[in-house]
Amino acid sequence: MNASDNNKINLLDFSLDKLTDFFQQRSEKPFRAKQVIKWLHQMNVDNFDAMSNLSKALRESLAADCIIKAPEIITDQASQDGTHKWLLRLDDGNCIETVFIPEGDRGTLCVSSQVGCALDCTFCSTARQGFSRNLTVAEIIGQLWIAKRTLQPDPKASRVITNVVMMGMGEPMLNFENVIDAMQLMLDDNAYGLSKRRVTLSTSGVVPAIDKLAERLNVALALSLHAPNDALRDKLVPLNKKYPIKEVLAACQRYLDNVDSVREKITIEYVLLAGVNDSDAHAHELADLLKNLPCKINLIPFNPFPKTQYQTSSNNRIHRFKDILVQRGCVTTRRKTRGEDIDAACGQLAGKFKDRSRRKIHFARIEQGEQQ
Ligand code: SF4
Repeated sequence: MNASDNNKINLLDFSLDKLTDFFQQRSEKPFRAKQVIKWLHQMNVDNFDAMSNLSKALRESLAADCIIKAPEIITDQASQDGTHKWLLRLDDGNCIETVFIPEGDRGTLCVSSQVGCALDCTFCSTARQGFSRNLTVAEIIGQLWIAKRTLQPDPKASRVITNVVMMGMGEPMLNFENVIDAMQLMLDDNAYGLSKRRVTLSTSGVVPAIDKLAERLNVALALSLHAPNDALRDKLVPLNKKYPIKEVLAACQRYLDNVDSVREKITIEYVLLAGVNDSDAHAHELADLLKNLPCKINLIPFNPFPKTQYQTSSNNRIHRFKDILVQRGCVTTRRKTRGEDIDAACGQLAGKFKDRSRRKIHFARIEQGEQQ
C-alpha cells in the first residue's frame, strides 16, 4: 500500500446493501454491487483488473478511488492437528488473532470482533490485555477473506471453511453494527453463502443487543454462561452484575421465539475451572437452571495462560460433570482442545495491542445501555 491508498475507500467495508448504495451514488447500476461482491468474497480477488465483467472505465474509476484491503498477515502458524492461527496486523499497528479448526468434514473459523475486550472476564486471556477499539467491517470479514485465500487457494474448489463463530477476541454485541454487516456477508449467497445455522454469534449476555439481533439477523446464538448462579457469575463474568442470569436467559428465549425454526437451540458455553464451577452441585444447579431453555451445553476445559489464578479441571471431574448433565436430560458435549502447540485454544487469543485504558469508559457505555 502506498501513502495515497490511505484515503481510499476499502470495499471490504461494505455489505451488499451498502455497496449497492455506494454504486448508486456513483451513478452506476445497482447490479454492479453484486458483481463486485462476488469478485471480492467468492473469487477473493485483491485487484480491480481481475474483475473481467466490469467495463475498463469502471475498473479504472474504482482503482482510482477504492482499495481492497484485509489485515496484513504477520504469522500463520499451523498446528500438527491442522489448526491454523493467524496473527494479523491492522493499519494502526494493533494485532488480532484468528483461528481455524478442522474437524472431520467441518472447518470452523473463530473470528475476532474487537481489539482486546473491555468485559474483563476473569478466566480470559484476551481480557488481560485490556481493550483498544472495535474492528471495522473490513477487519472482521477480512479475517474470513484471508483464511479462505490461504486454505482454499482455488475459489472454485470445495468449501474448506464451513462454519464461522464470532468467538475470538472481543464481545461482538458491543461492536454491533459492524458485526451485523460482516455476518450479512458471511450469509450472503453472493459472498460466502454460509448457512445461518453455521454462523454463530457468541455473547457474554448483552441483553438489549440480543433483542436487537433478533430484529436484524437470524444466526445461531451462543451464550458464555460459565456459572449456574449469579453470585459465582458476577465473579467470572462481571457483565452479569448489569445483566443477571435470569434476564439473559429470558433474552435467549425471546431470541429463539423470534427466529424462524422450532428446532433452534442456544449453545451454552461453560468453561470448567477446577474447584470453582465444576462440582456435582454446580452441574445439578446448571441442569435446574436450563431445564426450560432449548439449549445444548458445550463444556470447555480451561486453557491456562501465564499468571492465571485458575486451573484446568481433571478429566475425571469433566466426565463426572458431563455425566450428571446428560443424566439430567441436557444435551451436552465436551469441546476438544485443539491447537495447543500454537496457543490457539479457546480463551488464549491475545494479539498484540496497546490497552488504551478505555475499559472503564467502554463499561460505562454498557451501563448506560449504549451499543456501538
Ligand atoms: S470471555 Fe469474551 S467477553 Fe469475556 S473478556 Fe474474554 S473476550 Fe471478552
